[in-house]
Amino acid sequence: MTVLSDLLSALAGGSVEVVDLTAPLSEATPVIQLPPPFANTRHFALEEISRYDDRGPAWYWNDISTGEHVGTHFDAPVHWVTGREGVDVSQVPARRLVAPAVVIDKSEECADDPDFLLTVEHVEAWQAEHGSLPDGGWLLYRTGWASRAGDAGRFLNANETGPHTPGLAPDCARWLAQTAPILGIGVETVGTDAGAAHSFDPPFPCHAFMLGAGKYGLTQLANLERLPVTGAVLIASPLPIVRGSGSPARVLALVVR
Ligand code: MN
Repeated sequence: MTVLSDLLSALAGGSVEVVDLTAPLSEATPVIQLPPPFANTRHFALEEISRYDDRGPAWYWNDISTGEHVGTHFDAPVHWVTGREGVDVSQVPARRLVAPAVVIDKSEECADDPDFLLTVEHVEAWQAEHGSLPDGGWLLYRTGWASRAGDAGRFLNANETGPHTPGLAPDCARWLAQTAPILGIGVETVGTDAGAAHSFDPPFPCHAFMLGAGKYGLTQLANLERLPVTGAVLIASPLPIVRGSGSPARVLALVVR
């Protein structure tokens, strides 16, 4: 297989770079906060089992506890009621986890308007410049939100009227789910929907349409500014949690330099 030996040579020589799109996972990782009466997910936590001590003199290890939807993570179709007949995260075919990715950059717009919504017109304008969305690939939605990830307050950006973070207009979510050839959407924010999407029609349209169409979501991505507009290959690796609705994931991109 010369294509793989060529890839390894390119990685060794630096002409292909591995860009880590994953946020570090810790107790400080921001977590989505739903209003009452809804139940919330737990934060990530480590619990030490032993650390070169009486409990285990030569080894260090921890138990972890986390929600499925904490930090950089993968949403499986079964996460949403519209996708309840779809696959769980353990059933997503491995072949689907290595795929092309393109980037639409609305970071300037989102800096001015934290409630900015991506529209069909925005995506059509992107396609007029860069070509069709990738068949079986990811649309990565750059909002600049990753720069806030170290501060949960700024990242979640909630006030008395609820969270204010960018997302997709309902028509755009429907169009991407039902018309576009992509397999999923990746975002920098805590969820694939806008902070205000509880008030949209339908509520949480990105979840409802995309997962209902058997497509996927990736959240809290980092380093999207290091990707080309087109041409990256994305490797998403959620844990195969049996019956899981999602999983924290390591997400890597291969980029030609
Ligand atoms: Mn999620």
